[in-house]
Amino acid sequence: MSRAACIGVPVVAAVAIWGSVVIGDSLQDTGETETMKQGHRDAETPALKSLTVRIVHDNNPFDDRLQTAWGFAVTVTGPDNKTILFDTGSDGTLLLDNMALMDIDANGIDTVFLSHAHDDHTGGLVGLLTVHPKVDVFLLESFPKRFKETVRGYGAAVVEVESPREMCAHVYSTGRMGRQVHEQALVVRTVKGLIVLTGCAHPGIEKMVEQVRALHEEDILLVMGGFHLGWATEGQIERVIRTLKGFGVRYVAPTHCTGEKAQDLFLKYFGNRCLRAGVGSAITLADLK
Ligand SMILES: [Zn+2]
Ligand SMILES: [Zn+2]
Repeated sequence: MSRAACIGVPVVAAVAIWGSVVIGDSLQDTGETETMKQGHRDAETPALKSLTVRIVHDNNPFDDRLQTAWGFAVTVTGPDNKTILFDTGSDGTLLLDNMALMDIDANGIDTVFLSHAHDDHTGGLVGLLTVHPKVDVFLLESFPKRFKETVRGYGAAVVEVESPREMCAHVYSTGRMGRQVHEQALVVRTVKGLIVLTGCAHPGIEKMVEQVRALHEEDILLVMGGFHLGWATEGQIERVIRTLKGFGVRYVAPTHCTGEKAQDLFLKYFGNRCLRAGVGSAITLADLK
């Protein structure tokens, strides 16, 4: 299995689409700046028809068999069981234990995507690399040098992200956003619309979704992750919800650092299109109408 294939795309297609070259079995970015609407570039390859997103590390409970701890990590599995790990939570042992209980094989992970450099999103990575170092780790250029060296020290490939880019067919980064805390969101293009995953959404969840809209033409099917609204007033949260609804966001799955008050308000305004999220939640494309 090719490490550059990401989730469900042949490596040849990925290379042609990315404008990248494969050297040995690690992917090297040519530094191409992405400015065009990205959806056009792979219009010839059909968007993903099947996809499963599973929360494997979260401070919100869902499946009682699994452990909770502060942090966030999600697996995104496409056709042929190719899997991306989005963030790694704070604790590698807990991450691997939860994945084992959910029958997710750590060795099946091809790609790790790190949203930002906070420990509750990166702390589990070393635990994974200890058992499975053969992964490409997509992280922001501004991550600490020592962190990148540690990742390389385990034999994993580091792929640095700055501008919006395609990671493989149908899988994208928003590029670096935010001033105080740099963060990127993951975007997956499916036949039903875009799935957007955020770590903490420090730059503002509405700003991150706005960036996705500026980069892609498809409708936004689901926004899932930490929305970072624990500090916000009811009025501010309602404004964010109105903005997301105005953007046509169909489903939300707020968790991690979203805050209880915001979770309640998302449920109030999105109704059954606010999906209950916590460790062990699984959402398949077939569940979303
Ligand atoms: Zn954070
Ligand atoms: Zn966080």
